[in-house]
This record gives sequence, C-alpha cells and structure tokens, in this order.
Amino acid sequence: MKELYLLLLSLFISGSVFSQAPQQRKCAAQTLHDYQMDHDPLYKNRYKQIQRNTKAFQEIQKSFRSTASTTVREIPVYVHIIYDENVPEQNLSNAQIESQIEVLNEDFRALNTDVADVPTEFESLVSDYQLIFTLEGISRKSSTVVEWDTDNKMKSTATGGVDAITPETHLNIWVCKISGDILGYAQFPGGSLPTDGVVVGPNFFGSSDYDTDPSNPFYLSSPYDKGRTTTHEIGHYLNLRHIWGDGGCSVDDGVGDTPLAADSNGGCPSYPSKSCAENTEFTSDMFMNYMDYTNDACMFMFSEGQKTRSYALFEPGGFRENLGIVQDGCSLSAPTNLSLSGRSTNSLSLVWDAVAEANSYDVWVNGIVSNTLSNSIDLIDLAEGNTYTIKVTAKCSEGGIGAYSEAVSFNTLGCYSSPLTFTLNTDKYGDETSWVLSLDGVVVQTDSITYGNETTYTENFDFEDGNYTFEIKDSFGDGICCGEGNGSYTITDADGRIIKSGGEFEFSETVSFCVGVLETVDCENTMNASLGINTVVSAPAVYEFKAMENSEYIISSVGLTTVDTDLNIYSDCNTIIAENDNAESLQSEIRTILEAGQIIYIQWNDTHSTDGFDWSVSSGKNLQSITWDVLSDKKVNDLPFELKATASSNLEVSYSSSNLQVVTVNGKIATIIGAGEATITAIQEGNEDFLAAPVAQKVLVVSKVDQIINISSIPNKYTTDHDFEFEAEVSSGLDLTYEVSGPAKLNGTTISLEGTIGEVTLTAVQVGNEVFKAATTSTSFQVTKDPCLDFVVSELITSDINCFGGQDGSIEVMVSGGIEPYTYSLNGSAFGENNTWEGLLEGEYSLVIMDDSSCVLSTTATIKSPTALVVDEKVTNSSSVAGNGAIDLTVSGGTKDYAYDWNTGANTSSIENLETGIYSVIVTDGNGCSVEESFEVGGVTSTDHEKDDDFIIYPNPAENVIRILHNADSDYLNIYSVKGVIVKSTTIIGESTEIDVSNLSSGLYFIRLNQTGSMQKFIKE
Ligand SMILES: [Zn+2]
Repeated sequence: MKELYLLLLSLFISGSVFSQAPQQRKCAAQTLHDYQMDHDPLYKNRYKQIQRNTKAFQEIQKSFRSTASTTVREIPVYVHIIYDENVPEQNLSNAQIESQIEVLNEDFRALNTDVADVPTEFESLVSDYQLIFTLEGISRKSSTVVEWDTDNKMKSTATGGVDAITPETHLNIWVCKISGDILGYAQFPGGSLPTDGVVVGPNFFGSSDYDTDPSNPFYLSSPYDKGRTTTHEIGHYLNLRHIWGDGGCSVDDGVGDTPLAADSNGGCPSYPSKSCAENTEFTSDMFMNYMDYTNDACMFMFSEGQKTRSYALFEPGGFRENLGIVQDGCSLSAPTNLSLSGRSTNSLSLVWDAVAEANSYDVWVNGIVSNTLSNSIDLIDLAEGNTYTIKVTAKCSEGGIGAYSEAVSFNTLGCYSSPLTFTLNTDKYGDETSWVLSLDGVVVQTDSITYGNETTYTENFDFEDGNYTFEIKDSFGDGICCGEGNGSYTITDADGRIIKSGGEFEFSETVSFCVGVLETVDCENTMNASLGINTVVSAPAVYEFKAMENSEYIISSVGLTTVDTDLNIYSDCNTIIAENDNAESLQSEIRTILEAGQIIYIQWNDTHSTDGFDWSVSSGKNLQSITWDVLSDKKVNDLPFELKATASSNLEVSYSSSNLQVVTVNGKIATIIGAGEATITAIQEGNEDFLAAPVAQKVLVVSKVDQIINISSIPNKYTTDHDFEFEAEVSSGLDLTYEVSGPAKLNGTTISLEGTIGEVTLTAVQVGNEVFKAATTSTSFQVTKDPCLDFVVSELITSDINCFGGQDGSIEVMVSGGIEPYTYSLNGSAFGENNTWEGLLEGEYSLVIMDDSSCVLSTTATIKSPTALVVDEKVTNSSSVAGNGAIDLTVSGGTKDYAYDWNTGANTSSIENLETGIYSVIVTDGNGCSVEESFEVGGVTSTDHEKDDDFIIYPNPAENVIRILHNADSDYLNIYSVKGVIVKSTTIIGESTEIDVSNLSSGLYFIRLNQTGSMQKFIKE
C-alpha cells in the first residue's frame, strides 16, 4: 500500500495543475451557522432540538457502546459543477470528481492510509464512520459569476445556480469558487432543505493522489489538494463543530473524546502540540482531526465521539433520518474475547471467538487492515518497543463488513516482571470503582473491598508468568477522573516500569500485558508433526500418528501406559488446539488437523512432553497446503485472468467456480461471465508423496462497470435561436436516451427552443445492462430574450434617379429599439452618425446599423433609374404644295407621361398636314427629362432618283450667292426656311439661275423646283 501511495504521489507532482491557494484554511460553515442562528428563528429552534436529541443519544450510547451498529449507510451524492465561463479548468473532469468520492470512502471508513500516522494516544479513538458515498449524478453549468458569496445563491437556479436535488435523501455538493478565499462551507443540520448540503471551491475538490493522466491534469491547489476540505464540510453537514469548538480553552466541541484546544491549528504541526492547560487527558491537541484547520495531508481521523454525535441525526425522527440507504447486507456481530498469546518483542498470536456465518475477518492493526479466513492471526515482524492496537471485524460472504470488536492494545516492550504493584487513587465516588485481573482469560483476582472516596489503595499481584488482562471499571460510566474528583490508577512492575496509568475513561478500560520471559518456550522437546506412523517409546506412553484425509491426523496413545492418559495438543506452550481428557482409560485418541511443518506440543498427564521422545517418520505421505494470492474484485468486462493459488508441494492446483453465471474456470484461466459473487475453490488432490491439500476458497466479487456520460456543455441561448444539435457520449458506447425539461423540445439529438425564456435541462440516461451500471448526467442552459430583438429598421426611404444617367438618388434609414446612439455604415463605409446619403448612382446598397450595445441590423436599399428616353419617328412626306406630310412619334423609356413641344407649336405626339420642310420637337418625360429631335418632311416625286438629278446647287454652303443648274425652263422655284416658310421665289429660265441669298439669315434652307417638285437643301453660312 505504501508503494502505491508513493507512485501516486510522484504522478501527482508531474501532473497536477496548480492554482493559487490561500495561506490559511478558511471554512465558512460556523459563520453561516451563527448568522442563521441570529436571523432564522426556524433554524434556531430546529438546531436546538437537534442538539437536545444529540445529547440524549450520546448518553444512551455510553451504555450500549459494545453493541455497535453492523450496518453501513450509503449516501448518494449529487455534484453540481458551476464554473466560470472564462475559467474552463473549473469545469472539473469526471476523474477529479470521482477522486473526491474515493477520498470520502476512505476517510469515512478509516481506510485512508495515513490513519497509520495517528499518534498512539489517539489510536483507540479513530472512528470508522461506516458511511459510504456513491456518485449519483453530476450537473454542469457555465456561469458568468466569477466568485460566489456564502449567501447560497449557487443553490438555486433562480439566482443563477443549480437547485438541490432531493436533499432529504441525497447529499448535494456545489463546486464553485467562493469569495473571500473560503475553501468551503456547509449548512449544519436544521437549515432549510433547498440550501442543504455543502459548497467547496473547485481547486479543493478531489485528490492529487488520483491524478494519473498527465494529459488532463487535475485542477487543485496545494496544500488543500487531498480532498479533505470536502471531508471537513461533510463533518459539519453531519453536525460536527470545529475541533476547537470555535472558542477558547473553555469552549468544547460537544464531543467527549476530543481534547480542548485554544484555537484552530494550521499548517502541519509537530506532535505533541498542546494549546490548553485544561486538556489534562491528552498530551496534545488532536490537530490531525478532519475538523481542525490543518493541511489536507496532516488531517486523517474522526473520533468515535464525533461519530456518535453525527449518528444522532440518523435516529428515528432525526434530521437526517432519510439520508441515504442503510445497507443491512451484513448483520454479523462484533468478534469477542480477543486473546493475545505467544507475545514476543516482534510477534504475537491473536485469537478470538469465531462469529457464526463469518466468511472471513478483517484485522485492523494500527490502521493497517489484513484479512484472514480463520478466527486467528499470527502477527510477525512487529517493531520492538512499539504499542499496537488491534480490532477485528467479521465479514459476510456478500462482502459486507460487520462491527469492529473492542480494541485491544499490547506492546512489544517485552514482558514485565513480578510482582506487580497496583496503586489506586479513588475519586469522590470510590464505591463506583472496581477491577478484574485475568491470566489467560481466567480471573485471578478482583477488588475485595468497597473503596472509600478520594483515598489511596495499593495491591500487589504475584502470580505465575503468562498473559494478563487488567480491567478497571466505573459503574457510573464517568471514569475516576476528571469530572468528580481527580482519581487515577497505576500498575507498575517489579522494575518500576509503568504498565498502565490513567483515570479518564467511561465505563471501563482494559490493558493487556505479559509477565515473565517472552522468548523462552516453557515446554521442551518440540516435535514436528509429520505423516505416517510415528512411534515414540517413552515411559510411560507410546504415541501413534496416523494420517487421515484432508490433513486430519489421529494422534493416539498406544500400548501400555502406567496411568490414565490426559492428552492435549498445543500449538504453542500455552494454546491448546485439541484435547481429550480421558480419565477412564489408559488410552486416549485425538483427531486434529495439522498443517505441513506445523510445530505441535503434546501434553500428557498435565505435563508437557518430556525428555525421551524420539520421533521419526517411518512411512507415509507429506502434508501440503494451498495458499492463495490476492484475488482482487473484478468488473464484468475484465479480461480473463489467471488464478494464482500455489500448493506447498508445488504440485499443480486445479480450480472450480461455485457460480458459473459469474465466472467460469478453465484450467488456471478464469473468465468473467456476469456480475455477482462466486466462490473459487482451489484443489490439490495429492499424489504418491503428498496427501490432498485442504481445499482453499476465495470469494470473487464481480461488479458491473461504471459508465460515465459526458454531455458537451451547451451555451446559453436566445428564445429566437434556431434548432441545434448537442453531443453526448457514454464511456460504454451504449445507446443513450435523452430528456429535456424547460422551454424546449427534443428530436433525436436536436433541441428546438419553444420561444419562451427559462432554464432548459438536458438529461442523458443510460439504463445499463448486464455489464454496465446505469448512469445519468444532466446539463443546463438558460434561454433568455435576445436584447437585439426589438432593434429594427422603422423606416427606409429611398429616392430614385430622375433621369437616365443621373446621380441624384438618396437613401434615408431610421431605426427603433436598441440603445442609442446608433451608427450607420453604407456599403462597408466606416460607421458614422449620418443616416442619410445623397447624390447616389443607380444600384443596390447594403446598410449596417449598430446600436450602443453592439446589436447589429443589416438591410439593403435599391436606387432605381429610368431607362433612356428614346424617340422613334414615322415621317410621311408631303405630296402636295399645300402640305399633307405627317410625323408620328413613338416615345419609349424615361418616365411617363410624355409632353411634346413642336416648333410648330403643336403639343401632340403626331403632327400632320405638313408641307415639306424641317420640323423639330422637344419631348419631355414625367421627370422633366427631355430630348430634342428634328425631322425632314420631303415632297413626293415619281422617283427620288430623278429628283436628285433635277438640279445642282453650288456652292453649298453658300454665303452670298448660289447658282442652280437645272433643266427647267420658264418656271419658278421657292426657297423655304426650315419652318416651311417661303423666303424667296424666283423665276427660272434656261439652264442656270443665280440667286442672291445674302439677306437670308444663316441656317438650313430648302429649294423646291416647281416644275418637278424636287427639293434640295442648302446651307446659308
Ligand atoms: Zn469548518
């Protein structure tokens, strides 16, 4: 065990995450208690009632100490991990949480290895609390709270924490960082149920001794990294006060067997360390008690008195009557009549009365427990000069443990020498005191008078050498010190050595010791029992050894004896293992089981075997025995393993299983089939040299495998959030089923929010099967309203482009809700306070608006532009001088409606009855966009080709004079302005005509030859 401890220690050095720890342990349980006493009358009443019940129970227990409970109470635990979302290490691993449960299961059963460090004077006070803790479930919650005060807000979802789960029957532990450097606190019994339980800081929860995975180190702070803070707080939860009573030397902690102390002890004091002169019973404070303030590594015991105080809570009507489940699987009573023999400076034999139906016994020696199948044990390799305390408990075949026996103490100082002196100083009630002195279990002397008060008496004891027990009693149960007078007693030996002194006990106190020389065996001629016929010729007896089956031998006196034969077999000089007092016969016979190599002593006629015995093995087989290696408990899914029992003969051992539903055996290989218990029997049937060995059995316990469920943590949500998936896995790989509570629905591994606020708890359940235990884990998250939800665009005003190709669009956006001021960004520009943009081109614009709490809105705005204004015309030429031409316009694009402004003054899309000439129009659309166009209405001739050849105008353009070459004769021509007005008319004769145009204003003109009707343009410069 020590090696394992060192291994774990080295692992923890390399693995653990350290975080800062306060200099001094601080627990707020008493502070909270004082506060509740002052402010909560209900709590005060209940607490006072609990103290009255406790006191009554403590009185009763004084009278019935020996009938200790054989039951174990199993307390299911819920652990609520509430971690700072910015400190993910606080979200402790399952391994770290489980290590804390492991520590509780050691500390509350005195199975912690460091219990061996309890100083001798406190050893007999060490308590097995008979409590075991099982992890019922873990909840995990991410929080924005950095530190929690001791006002219990972490215990309610309404205040950001987690509600307690069935606190009447379950222990709730909240793990979260507590303000003010406080390691933990508990609510004493009597408080309100919703806040019942303990609170521990995350870096003090769990033990570095179990931190074995360097890739995922525990989050712990030395020197409070062994899980003892939780042990301490559960002590308060079970009604224990701090060991110093939270006061000075005059204030007690309400427990009889803990020393008075002036104040808390911190760090790791050296023993002895005494703070109160009033502490007369002990040489030191009990600073190694879990209820002191010492470092985790320096506290390792509860006392029996503390246990009694706590157990009052479990009585009918007690405040914690319904906490956990009492396991009554093992109802074996405590072993009695512990008897020491064969004591030397380094060894001892212990035997006790067998307990009916016991499967085996656990023997506790100064904190180290070993198991034995028989009702005796040989302790060897003890250290010389030490004091040892031993107690024994019977175990059931189911593995449950019964009550521990009363402890017996002995030392390896060697035996004392006669005569002994007993000095008694009586207290104020001398008649309550009595005593008994026994030798080898037989009373040899008792008190013979009624003692007077406050008087000194002396007795001398001078008996034969042997093992003595001295018991002093007080009929009132208050010892002889220190309540009513200051009585005491002392036993010294002939050399003046003090065997025992004291006075402060309750009903009685016992000391065992030996007198005489230890190492010398006071019998002679040791003989090795062996097989076959051993003929011993000795006056007056002849003995025969005869081997039977299963190591049983018949030892008998044969032949003539001169006297009747009393035959006894001793395992040592004092311990009879078989006897036959046969006064009627001269021959005696004993059947007994002997082990190979066992040394026995034969006593005949009240005298140990004497000189003259001459033993020799004449024939027969050798004895053998089977020794088992440790057979560890197994899990259902463990691999087949090798059974390891060896025969002293070195012959092959064969095995069988009593329960093939649990384990099958093939040769040496055991294969686990299912959960349960099976007895494995090891057999060696012997051969020509060896007899069959006694069968050796071991109980194999196979339990189902724990499975751990991990749900990935779910961040808090808004009511408007979409469906999302969660992830969960179970170490077994089996199928998980899920449930949600709160405003959400579940579909497979998808959670849909219902749109209302509240807390959603997701629970994953694995019901277990023949291999795995059931498991359940839950996680919670909050659904809140999105604060950005009412932040909306209230108005978006856009102004489109007026005319095709323009840059006169604009956007204005207005928002409501959110928190002012708002800032705006158009098309990714820097955010500014401007919410209006002008002079924009056609296109789509993105708008982003942000409020003061960074809620963001985005939208788009479109600036439209009309298409280009297009004028299509249909021109009909005029075929008469009066004018019958027409222009018909079809306008498209732009913005309706269109307006027309002709140079003729017309306002219609079409104009008709036109003479030849040039016509212009300005078309204006609904937005005031306009285009100007001109059209020519020509005359109609037989063919345009002929018309073109009718006449030639030159120069063209002309400034003053134009000449016209033509074929016409005796006709005229007209010159028209673009508006169709005749500005000149000239008669033409011959082939050319010259016309003065100097008085015409500059512009385009048309010349029409009357004879042919053809027309041509010229330009006056
Ligand atoms: Zn405390």
